Amino acid sequence: MTLSRVQDGRVRVRAPGKINVFFAVGDVQPDGYHDVASVYQAVGLFEDVWATIGEGYTVEVTGTVDVSGVPLDDRNLAVRAARSVARAVGWEGGIHLEIHKGVPVAGGMGGGSADAAATLVAVNALLGGNLSAAELHVLGAELGADVPFALLGGTAVGTGRGDELAPALVRGRFEWVLVTRTDGLSTPAVYGELDRLRAAPDIRPPIAVPTVAPGVLAALRAGDALALAGAIANDLHPAACSLLPALNEVIDRGLTAGALAGFVSGSGPTIAFLAAPGGADALARTLRSAGFSALAAHGPVAGARVLA
Ligand code: ATP
Repeated sequence: MTLSRVQDGRVRVRAPGKINVFFAVGDVQPDGYHDVASVYQAVGLFEDVWATIGEGYTVEVTGTVDVSGVPLDDRNLAVRAARSVARAVGWEGGIHLEIHKGVPVAGGMGGGSADAAATLVAVNALLGGNLSAAELHVLGAELGADVPFALLGGTAVGTGRGDELAPALVRGRFEWVLVTRTDGLSTPAVYGELDRLRAAPDIRPPIAVPTVAPGVLAALRAGDALALAGAIANDLHPAACSLLPALNEVIDRGLTAGALAGFVSGSGPTIAFLAAPGGADALARTLRSAGFSALAAHGPVAGARVLA
């Protein structure tokens, strides 16, 4: 990172939202967390963050999605990311952030994490901090399990809490349609429901270390949408649908309209559909005319990067 990336006193960084094409969840650990085995793909719905020197830490949020649920104080993950880089490089002044959101808020697509990742990169460039990608990864993992992936982008396997990443090989691109909704599902509530569903009756062996099904990685490597459709899985899917049964209707509509697969993205309530190659725009149009809020996007796309 160099000061040459600062134009008109500000730095603009773009980071992507994500879907989890595979998400296996281990049993709840004594500390309350779950280990996961995840395959993330970054998709073309983006967050843009502009960072400038400011008085104290302030943030403005606009977007093409409903941003009314986004906090504007220290609860905002981007503000916490700005403070974290400032602390790491010894900056004692303030930072002002402008966020333009394209990722649905509280939709299980990691929009807040993308804001945090973009802010880490932007503030590092703004302050000439010279923190390495590995150092930003560490700061990101402290902010949230999905932040390191928003820095990396592409397609990756995530283990541990989801933040121990290994890039995955992908041929070509996959087409997705995301159906968003305004009645959110909180991530802790969905994990709580998973634990509840698994506890009764407790006759299965414990899931110590979840792993990624090899078929998912083979389908991604081959660029084979049909094979990927058969391998997609999300352990949180039944829990999210149990809390919000209306999600089943959305999935049925998408499958009837020709989607290869339909599933809860992350902890929901966004439903992700895998479209046949060339079919995402038509699928999105069909779902919109049925009254749903549907966005077409392809993946993989790049992680957080400075824009001119
Ligand atoms: P997660 O799975 O981490 O809960 P998500 O992908 O479902 O996240 P986000 O849009 O990242 O959804 O935000 C979840 C919640 O985090 C929001 O309801 C909001 O209160 C809070 N939040 C904090 N910072 C941000 C931010 N920059 N953008 C959006 N939400 C934020």
